[in-house]
Amino acid sequence: MKYISTRDKNKSVTAAEAIAKGLADDGGLFLPESIPSVSASELKELCKANYRERAVIIMSKFLDEFSEAELRGFVNSAYAENFDCPEIAPLRFLDDATGMLELWHGPTCAFKDMALQMLPLLLVSSLKKLNENRKVCILVATSGDTGKAALAGFANVPGTSIAVFYPRDGVSDVQKLQMTTQEGDNVYVCSVEGNFDDAQNGVKRIFSDRDFSEKLNENGVFLSSANSINWGRLLPQIVYYFSAYCDYVNSGKIKMGDEIDFCVPTGNFGDILAGYYAKKMGLPVRKLICASNSNNVLTDFIKTGFYDRNRQFFSTISPSMDILVSSNLERLLFLLSDDKQVKNWMELLKIKGSYNVGAGVLAELQRDFDCGFCADDEAMLAINREFSNSDYLMDTHTAVAFGVLEKLRKNDPKFPTVVVSTASPFKFADSVLAALGKGEKKSGGQLIESLTALTGVLAPRPLSGLDSREKRFSDCVAKENMDKAVLKFLQTM
Ligand SMILES: *Cc1c(COP(=O)(O)O)cnc(C)c1O
Repeated sequence: MKYISTRDKNKSVTAAEAIAKGLADDGGLFLPESIPSVSASELKELCKANYRERAVIIMSKFLDEFSEAELRGFVNSAYAENFDCPEIAPLRFLDDATGMLELWHGPTCAFKDMALQMLPLLLVSSLKKLNENRKVCILVATSGDTGKAALAGFANVPGTSIAVFYPRDGVSDVQKLQMTTQEGDNVYVCSVEGNFDDAQNGVKRIFSDRDFSEKLNENGVFLSSANSINWGRLLPQIVYYFSAYCDYVNSGKIKMGDEIDFCVPTGNFGDILAGYYAKKMGLPVRKLICASNSNNVLTDFIKTGFYDRNRQFFSTISPSMDILVSSNLERLLFLLSDDKQVKNWMELLKIKGSYNVGAGVLAELQRDFDCGFCADDEAMLAINREFSNSDYLMDTHTAVAFGVLEKLRKNDPKFPTVVVSTASPFKFADSVLAALGKGEKKSGGQLIESLTALTGVLAPRPLSGLDSREKRFSDCVAKENMDKAVLKFLQTM
């Protein structure tokens, strides 16, 4: 299977190249040149398989340069005891028509583990296939979840190192503790004076600094990123849509072949795009519901076909969805139109901050997607209501999806739907406590204990006892000095 760029379909690369490069030279995103299908009999086979086997079957359809034995090795190490339940991505039913697909049983308690436990293995193996002998250093600027998930994924992976920068005052207490207590010999964590944009711009500057990369090259090191535009991050996410469908069938609540909806809390459009791929591969999905918080640029887009980032930015209680430019949307636009149009729209987005895809593409879009948004107060009410109704505790991102679904399904409450649950409620304990009427000002570790005391729900193992773990990293730099911090770190390696 060859991979092409969303901005030029005539230049193709191998899967290994697409994963190693991350972004195409023309600035586009890589995607497979065709979408493989899953037959009805294969779907039946998937239902009998466990999560790891399902992952091998789905991923192998996109990665024919990787042997089945290789892929088996990857899944056996990516989805194993590092997850706190044997199902890896369990589907928990609130009622016959509502299943919660819990994607936060991995080491950092957010859904990014599903991809970032796999990406380092795909990346290292891709580099080997390309005869790359240098060591790769992953640079990340994070507003919270991605940094920790990338650290956990790359920790102690041979041939790699990882440096994560976070804004000093821009991540939650729990997130800061999670990062600064990260173990591993090849990891580095540093805060930046400033906000997320400062950290991100600093990382971008390092990436484009030729002298800097020359200096690293002399030492046998090159830079790469782990952000969500890498195909190696998107691919592992397709698996859990198939897995959730199979678990729904296995529960006896639907029959094989029945359609279901998925409701997905969306930021950068990576998660829901994986669902779209699953649908196009033949999974019986009626609609993908794109749920946004107050940064509802995607809701407007799916309703009107007009994408407009010129709007107020809101900092919400679901910070991982506080995004005005959803990078992965570019892949969907390509699938619904062509490379020339995508190039044009992305140019307009850069210059004017907006573009209009027109009636034809809009109609296509609306055939597969539904949408809605939920402000903070509605998400808090959803957390509170569902905990009183069924003792089910959800995090603030999942609550956005849940709240949107409640609004949309008023006329059709029995249609089988999977809500994609993207984080453990303990990861956002401060807001979840506030939603339950018990907001407190305390340290991250204490908030986690308060939430257990209030609800009787135990915190996931990686989040308990955070306060007492050794803090390994305390560096804080001005944004101009991030490159020096990277050099210093690499010299200790
Ligand atoms: C990253 C993230 C999202 C958004 O996922 P996208 O793939 O960016 O749409 C939602 N919830 C949580 C908890 C996340 O960390």
